[in-house]
Amino acid sequence: MSNYKMETKCIQSGYTPKNGEPRVLPIYQSTTFKYEDSDAMGRLFDLEDSGYFYTRLQNPTNDAVAAKICDMEGGVAAMLTSSGQAANFYAIMNIAEAGDHIVCSSAVYGGTYNLYAHTIRKMGISATFIDPDCSEEELDAAFQENTKAVVGETIANPALTVLDIEKFAKAAHAHGVPLIIDNTFATPINCRPFEWGADIVTHSTTKYMDGHASCVGGCIVDSGNFDWDAHAEKFPGLTTPDMTYHGLVYTERFGKGAFITKATAQMMRDLGSIQAPQNAFLLNIGLETLHLRMPRHCENALKAAEYLKNHEKVAWVSCPMLEGDKYYDLAQKYMPNGTCGVITFGVRGGREACVKMMDSLKMIAIVTHVADARSCVLHPASHTHRQMNEQELIEAGVQPDLIRFSVGIENIDDIISDLEQALEQV
Ligand SMILES: *Cc1c(COP(=O)(O)O)cnc(C)c1O
Repeated sequence: MSNYKMETKCIQSGYTPKNGEPRVLPIYQSTTFKYEDSDAMGRLFDLEDSGYFYTRLQNPTNDAVAAKICDMEGGVAAMLTSSGQAANFYAIMNIAEAGDHIVCSSAVYGGTYNLYAHTIRKMGISATFIDPDCSEEELDAAFQENTKAVVGETIANPALTVLDIEKFAKAAHAHGVPLIIDNTFATPINCRPFEWGADIVTHSTTKYMDGHASCVGGCIVDSGNFDWDAHAEKFPGLTTPDMTYHGLVYTERFGKGAFITKATAQMMRDLGSIQAPQNAFLLNIGLETLHLRMPRHCENALKAAEYLKNHEKVAWVSCPMLEGDKYYDLAQKYMPNGTCGVITFGVRGGREACVKMMDSLKMIAIVTHVADARSCVLHPASHTHRQMNEQELIEAGVQPDLIRFSVGIENIDDIISDLEQALEQV
């Protein structure tokens, strides 16, 4: 980890050119890398030397950007993935296998819910979903003998519940398993989950990190704090020989780098969801201004939330930065400088009124996206979460009249005028 302040990390971390090298991180647009002799190449395949050989596993552009995000989060190692979904999939598959179990907050992104409730179940890994506001006793009761990880989102998309990271970390560690936090909405600008006890952080870099809605991507960062060897019987993949690399043991050979090395050497080798170097390059440009954009997103979101809260046609508003919000205190604790630009609200008159309001917006677009520079809206019950029944929607913290409003960094007066004219149409 560098000693730079966050603003400097956003710009300088990950890539330091040497004499005569490009000032800007180059795109290594190459599937493969050349070596002088066959023995040098062989050592790479045995993980004896570190180096690049094939972009399905690693690429220098990606690694520089991953190193920047790693520095921003305060971790020891990181990797980019092709999407946030791939990051959340790999984070689990790297430590769990058929017969295992995870504990997951019920307030998570719809795609994550599908992945953990349905897709990994078909691979033999079951999940218990738990209300993030549960008591310590209830959380404790969710664990099983075969539990391998606890998962939650710093600020849930779209429920906007703020996770009590310390409570979840304490429970995870009492049961000898890591806490994995999806920090997509907060970004390391507003929250660094490792400082509160999380062990692994994942990101959909598609959102604020890219920030311009130009490329899908993900990232996994390891804090290096979880002691896999102390719970060796639970994590044989990391602590016993990997026959595909001549019996190498990840924790023995790579120490704090074990988790990310295994995810690269096994998951990427076999499943291959690597981020394109072009996308990593664009992501890096986004990261350079993340520290400028996040405060403006938060400022605009709070003003929009205050406006909506005082509007007679608006039934309710949820924004953890609003005093009186259910998650205000947790947000103040974990994100005192602001949460994110996403807020939610309901229009009086239910589903129909919500759709009418959204269809009347002129600047604010209806898109299946969130957390970029442009303001946008989405109705989860008709869009991202339409596969869920009413009960599942409510468990995921998504009321049927919920509009997810991703407040951009346009001038707030223009954002509010658009809301105003659209609410007049209802
Ligand atoms: C969007 C999102 C994901 C999935 O990321 P993709 O990049 O779309 O695959 C995961 N977690 C959260 C919190 C998200 O908002």
